[in-house]
Amino acid sequence: ATKKPGKPDWIRVKAPISKEYQQTRDLIRRYKLNTVCEEASCPNIGECWAKKHATVMILGSVCTRACRFCNIATGTPDKLDPHEPERVADALAELGLTHVVITSVDRDDLPDGGAQHFARTIKAIRKVSPATTIEVLTPDFLRKEGAVEIVVEANPDVYNHNVETVPRLYPSVRPGARYFHSLSLLQKIKELAPHMFTKSGLMAGLGEEKSEIYQVMDDFRAAQVDFMTIGQYLQPSPKHHPVMRFVTPDEFQDYERMARGKGFLMVSASPLTRSSYHAAEDFERMREA
Ligand code: SF4
Ligand code: SF4
Repeated sequence: ATKKPGKPDWIRVKAPISKEYQQTRDLIRRYKLNTVCEEASCPNIGECWAKKHATVMILGSVCTRACRFCNIATGTPDKLDPHEPERVADALAELGLTHVVITSVDRDDLPDGGAQHFARTIKAIRKVSPATTIEVLTPDFLRKEGAVEIVVEANPDVYNHNVETVPRLYPSVRPGARYFHSLSLLQKIKELAPHMFTKSGLMAGLGEEKSEIYQVMDDFRAAQVDFMTIGQYLQPSPKHHPVMRFVTPDEFQDYERMARGKGFLMVSASPLTRSSYHAAEDFERMREA
């Protein structure tokens, strides 16, 4: 692949060419699933899919929001597929994973924001793969009274919800969302289910200051978030939010050290960190911590 001008050497990724990658892709097609790996043009797809680590995206492929960093299609959402939970469960069973990550588009059009569909998907996975641990990465369920309770009730092992950026940048980066609401959601999950691991993350390089990231770390700890992720923002296309800066690997290490000092059970901070990157390995380590 040609290197975009200005993209530093440390954003180097493996080309998706392995036989295992193709097997994962074929299976995803066969079960007609959407993945955030593809829809978000994730740079780690070659590495992850070679290990069969695909992050399934439920509730369709069209989002009702239009965050300025995100490559997922926006517009009129797809009709909800009632068979999707079972299809996801069967596909994941065939992949044979010990830990799975399920995410979705945002569905402001649905009365429960898609919470029930998340719960049904968790239950369907438990049914066919009882030993598999389940991580969900959900929307913020803004103005969806009772939605987060429905997902928590289905008892995923890890509940992840990303704040994506520092509060000052919300109006320009994540206009449909509210920072304080996302934090409250994380806190609420812990209150409802103290045994459940909570996880959140954000992107670096959108124009934030270091001190603002430290503040987010403190906010996370105040909400008892267990696991924090920070990765470099990459611009999916010229019409998306520009990359304001490439944060160096050393700076990411500083973030990681700082976050560990603040008491998180697990921290992942590196240029290629994404919320689902190495999720299985990190979950194991967090459980042992
Ligand atoms: Fe998919 Fe996550 Fe891996 Fe990216 S990091 S390819 S989104 S599993
Ligand atoms: Fe992308 Fe999520 Fe924003 Fe939708 S809500 S545009 S899927 S980041």
